Amino acid sequence: MGRLEGKVAYITGGARGMGAELARTFAAEGADIVISDICENIDTVRYDLGTKDELEAVAEEVRSLGRRCVAEVADVRSQKQLDAVTAKALQDFGKIDIVCANAGIHGVAKFTTMTEQQWDDLLGVNLTGIWKTAKSTAPSMIERQSGCFIITASVSAREPLPEYAHYTTAKHGVIGLARSLGVELGPDNVRVNTILPGPIDTYLNDNPVNRDWAAGFKGATTEDMHAAIRNWHNLRGRGALPAKAVANAALYLASDEAEHVHGAELVVDAGHLLLPGFNHSPVQPEGYPRRPNEGYNPYAD
Ligand code: NAD
Repeated sequence: MGRLEGKVAYITGGARGMGAELARTFAAEGADIVISDICENIDTVRYDLGTKDELEAVAEEVRSLGRRCVAEVADVRSQKQLDAVTAKALQDFGKIDIVCANAGIHGVAKFTTMTEQQWDDLLGVNLTGIWKTAKSTAPSMIERQSGCFIITASVSAREPLPEYAHYTTAKHGVIGLARSLGVELGPDNVRVNTILPGPIDTYLNDNPVNRDWAAGFKGATTEDMHAAIRNWHNLRGRGALPAKAVANAALYLASDEAEHVHGAELVVDAGHLLLPGFNHSPVQPEGYPRRPNEGYNPYAD
């Protein structure tokens, strides 16, 4: 018997990356799945977002595991679209046991030159989108006196980075929001926990603009990105971590094994937050020729 047998899990940002991995992992453990995604680009985001084809492919993977899947296009900035997904999920599956508020975008800009639109889009998706997702799904959990939220924050909820004011503010806010939801929902037996990932191996990191930003030079490869990220980690030899690392942590929080875990802030970062700053001598794979960081910043172009 799977660890989530008979449960229904709803995951935002499910077309790819961590959202898709959550869907696969939860389905393999017996859950029926609802996934939603914006499936179009946002002008202020410098890399492509998930697509309808990717969302459908994840739904097919879930179905091939023998589980049911509802896959809907919805922007977490729209309460109306989110409410429509919740209504469809409740109509098709009768309940929602687990909500993973995962959808998010990334960007880098000095706060002095950041546009209002960049700020509004990032806060709108990464922070307000979580409030709207919870607002839409919590009432049915309160009614059933059962449920659980797993909210994706980041190590950016604990520390600042330069040119990261909107992302850092949003992720710090996610912790405050999750704690607020937690105190309100605990008496209704609805658990709220957050996950704080370090750099994860998804397209959010492994895209041309972000590879250059991570490595600090133009034309950086995927391996250059991993090499740069090894400077972040304390555990031996880790580049960007697999999405499965986060999905496994979420699986525990979603399962009955965590029935008394409420208000946890689970860090999945290969020890990054243990480090006082920068790991100057990360373990690189044998013979990897590390090109020095040249201070190149694609966001300044
Ligand atoms: P990703 O870009 O691979 O996937 C994110 C998905 O969210 C995409 O499919 C995208 O289309 C969707 N999305 C974006 N805006 C949306 C919106 N307005 N409405 C609905 N869907 C939307 O990124 P990922 O790495 O899987 O990121 C997932 C979450 O993890 C995000 O909240 C991100 O901030 C957080 N996070 C990522 C990392 C990392 O290093 N990748 C680290 C810490 C936290």
